[in-house]
Amino acid sequence: MQQPATAVAPLIQLKKISMAYGKSPRRFVALRDVSFDVAAGEFVCVVGPSGCGKSTLLRIIAGLIAPTKGKVLYNGQPLNGVNPHATIVFQTFALFPWLSVIENVQVALKARGVPLAARQTRAEQLVELVGLAGFASAYPRELSGGMRQKVGFARAMAMEPELLCLDEPFSALDVLSAEALRGELIELWLKRAMPTQAILMITHNIEEAVELADRVVVMAKDPGRILTEIAIGLRHPRNRKDVAFQATVDRVYAAVAGRSAADLEAQIVVPGLPGITQRLPRANLEALAGLLEKIAAEKGRSDLPRLATELGSDLHELLPMVEAAERLGLARVEQGDLLLLPAGQTYAEASIAVRKELIAGRALRVPLVRWVYETLQQDDNRRVDRDYFVDTLRAGFGDAAGEQVDIAVDWGRYAELFAYDKDTDELYLEG
Ligand code: ADP
Repeated sequence: MQQPATAVAPLIQLKKISMAYGKSPRRFVALRDVSFDVAAGEFVCVVGPSGCGKSTLLRIIAGLIAPTKGKVLYNGQPLNGVNPHATIVFQTFALFPWLSVIENVQVALKARGVPLAARQTRAEQLVELVGLAGFASAYPRELSGGMRQKVGFARAMAMEPELLCLDEPFSALDVLSAEALRGELIELWLKRAMPTQAILMITHNIEEAVELADRVVVMAKDPGRILTEIAIGLRHPRNRKDVAFQATVDRVYAAVAGRSAADLEAQIVVPGLPGITQRLPRANLEALAGLLEKIAAEKGRSDLPRLATELGSDLHELLPMVEAAERLGLARVEQGDLLLLPAGQTYAEASIAVRKELIAGRALRVPLVRWVYETLQQDDNRRVDRDYFVDTLRAGFGDAAGEQVDIAVDWGRYAELFAYDKDTDELYLEG
């Protein structure tokens, strides 16, 4: 018999979700106007810097907390309270230490009301599925971190959630265990060996997202919001060494790095200081030297994902530095690569003294730094209270004003333009 054609609602729909923690004046907006859908059959990854509200979002979707504004629909129905169809797996799993592997899984089946007779068989299947067949009677303390994580997965699957929410599930594992477990997860998912209809996973690892997801949602912070969504059209099995894989990773990196481009058009307005429209990135200029030298050694063009890996940092730690290099006219982001500009090349090859001079010239073109410098120049004693700067900037930057002054001082000190006297709480002109 022919089924009538009905429009199937996405499994999850987020409609203009905002979330604020605390009360005024300590109110903190963790998410603003976040909207996206997850359809049945989709594996969606959410990437973004620490503090952009990823965990908050996951908790809202699971119904553990309610958003301040906006609606969550599950299967087309408004979600009220805990979502019984969703299970969250956290970064570190809490297993019952006094229960064996198989008993830890059985507990979850029991909680779901699976009859005793069926529990044993199902638990055995699940333990085998995650590759722990030989360890069913082992206790958590006898297992490696990776194996414990696998028990966590088996337990989450025992819950048979329609929606599996994973919060950085691999980030506490060593590289090899993470790789193995990712492989197991994607295999189970592709084989449809689990009844789960959709997976929503948070990660800060872009390669991981591209390896697993059908779609990557890119978030930014202050306030937490969605920058863009990128469909990952690669076929499984995905190989990280493939050109197409690398190109996709670059696209996602470019989108994440594009944050600086978006922020260049930021709406900051400081009354009386029309030039100051952008915040300074939280970047240390000493460390920037190392980054520029590395690009120079790579003929002036470096792949951002690789730079992040080789410098042993996360992309999000690298980004403020990339942004600083852009603001100072030393480098430019293009297609997920960082390109050295002529001034950057000169910088990389110069002595420390020349570097400081070059940065001084460049930093003075950054309106916020220039304003601090000129304010100090105009003062008879060439000293001004730090509070003056913070208070003036507060109208545009809010609570971030103090940090902005501190970054300006950091840059000013590196360039030997001005510095901070902590005894008097004043900024003063150098030299
Ligand atoms: P992420 O997972 O992306 O790191 P979170 O969702 O954990 O981000 O947090 C987003 C922001 O909200 C952070 O600045 C965090 O400090 C703040 N935050 C999270 N939970 C609370 C809470 N219960 N009370 C106040 N602030 C919170």
